[in-house]
Amino acid sequence: MIELPEANTLARQITDTLAGKLIASAVANSSPHKFAWYHGDPAAYAALLPGARIEQAVPRGGMVQIMAGDIRLLFTDGVALRFVPAGERRPAKHQLLVEFDDGTALAASVQMYGGLWAYREGDFHNPYFDVACEKPSPLTDEFDSDYFAGLLNTDGAASKSAKAFLATEQRVPGLGNGVLQDILWNARINPRRSMSSLSNSQLDNLFNSVKTTLRAMTELGGRDTEKNLFGETGGYITQMSKNTASLPCPGCGGAITKEAYLGGSVYYCPNCQPIR
Ligand SMILES: [Zn+2]
Repeated sequence: MIELPEANTLARQITDTLAGKLIASAVANSSPHKFAWYHGDPAAYAALLPGARIEQAVPRGGMVQIMAGDIRLLFTDGVALRFVPAGERRPAKHQLLVEFDDGTALAASVQMYGGLWAYREGDFHNPYFDVACEKPSPLTDEFDSDYFAGLLNTDGAASKSAKAFLATEQRVPGLGNGVLQDILWNARINPRRSMSSLSNSQLDNLFNSVKTTLRAMTELGGRDTEKNLFGETGGYITQMSKNTASLPCPGCGGAITKEAYLGGSVYYCPNCQPIR
């Protein structure tokens, strides 16, 4: 699943690659998917999208929004986006294929579930998207230690575990169960650790890790567990992920633990990231 670093990378790549291209045609829902969400009837995309010219893409938390005049294309974190060069075969299965006037295309396919919303600006509202637009990105200066402390002082957040605090309820849009693992590893904090049990220096470490880990992941083009617009894995090498679960802990050489916790697997070292 793409999260904040991959959404930033995809938005940059889409702007660099697609800006200026005119949409020639579009096909939505050609491979029906139970958990692909559209705005209205996907058959209407074929009339809505042609004639729009791509201007830019922007990351919205873990989502990517493409601007094309008054047309918007919005993709959620469960959608894989791929650029298809001119003359190259289109993927056999996709939930949205946008063809451009120069023979190139953008293919979108839903993994487990995902939104592929096409609409005219103002015609679409989604609370998840609104939150992603409103809250400051951890990559900005607005997301500072005071802002982070404010999150902790809201709605009983302090009583939650580190994973629940950071990666649920859209407290930090784009920070999901994927990027969480290295954020906690870099701060040496266990995913199950109660936020109220952390010392001030541990809270400082956690805040700094949110900022620096997400920045490093973004600057390196996303994580090595995810693919970018060109189907390449990101340049950020994950320390705690499905890729490293069978490797020794980079800190102590012990075994990395993989457990199901709060919807999704967590990866941590029980020695370097003690529960208490
Ligand atoms: Zn360790």
